[in-house]
Amino acid sequence: MATETRNDGGAENFGSCCEELKQIMAGEDFEPLITVGGDGILYMSVGLIDIEEDEPGMVDHPVFFCPFCGTKVQDPDKVRDMFEKPDAA
Ligand SMILES: [Zn+2]
Repeated sequence: MATETRNDGGAENFGSCCEELKQIMAGEDFEPLITVGGDGILYMSVGLIDIEEDEPGMVDHPVFFCPFCGTKVQDPDKVRDMFEKPDAA
């Protein structure tokens, strides 16, 4: 895409900082542990948790800085707002 539209949290905004994150966002060769949630927040899976099912659940945590190049990918204040008032976004 040649034009970048700022829509604050769209999946396209993530991965524009470096090839590594871009490839993970594409997720072509593997199941990425860094994903964009339905709320438009970028999450990274940080561990597994035992729930009362057969399959362990993933523990996700919002990512504020790209783990590969250190670029700020989302604003902690904005993410907190999303959690506190999801409808305001
Ligand atoms: Zn990056």
